[in-house]
Amino acid sequence: MEKKPELEHILHEYVTTCSDHYRFFMHRTVPAAWHSKLPLQAEERWLRLHALLSLDPRQTEWQEHICYFVKCEHIACYGHASTQSLVCVAPVDSQLERPFLHEETHVLTYKRWGMLPAFFMEGIAHYVERSAITYGHEMQQHQGKSAGFWASAFLEQRDHVLDILQRSDCFRREMPAYPMYLLASNFIDFIMTTYGPQFLHRCCALVGSSTDITDAMQLSEPEIIAAWRQFVQEQGR
Ligand SMILES: [Zn+2]
Repeated sequence: MEKKPELEHILHEYVTTCSDHYRFFMHRTVPAAWHSKLPLQAEERWLRLHALLSLDPRQTEWQEHICYFVKCEHIACYGHASTQSLVCVAPVDSQLERPFLHEETHVLTYKRWGMLPAFFMEGIAHYVERSAITYGHEMQQHQGKSAGFWASAFLEQRDHVLDILQRSDCFRREMPAYPMYLLASNFIDFIMTTYGPQFLHRCCALVGSSTDITDAMQLSEPEIIAAWRQFVQEQGR
């Protein structure tokens, strides 16, 4: 028996809408108003996330990028990014910014620097979320503790960080998942504040092409720990 072509299935279930940098496949159950709202918001976010990372949008090739949007009633916001597509699922009444910002940042960093170690990849995405969104105080915290608190707890009595910076599975091994996001975003905050965006760009370009982290940062492990500790202290909790 002949298999039903996938395209036919997509055309039946989804409605296509285009903007400058995105092509949306929105599920047919998505409210009509979102078909004009989401592309506008996406283009605004496109500029905002480049600005937050001090990147020039003209240097990001994004034409082929496809963004799927699926509306779902009963689940929390969820997103997934690959090199070709970006899937965001969100309940109809939710704030859509958060999963989109996070996943779009993943695609942007991938396009710029290739596959980064998980700590950098998730750290940058969560840093962008935290910097771009002013609502939702809870996303800056876990159990009432801020990113600075988790970073301080992590760095206390610790004389090695390279395992966490370099391991691809650090998000499954170390702390509970959400504090790991806070910790990783605190690290990116530290890099941006202490050394500036150009330094972050250079590190990402180097670690993306599998250069050792200490070589990429041109700092030894004790120097990284000392500078990160100092940043956390100065920031307070
Ligand atoms: Zn992520």
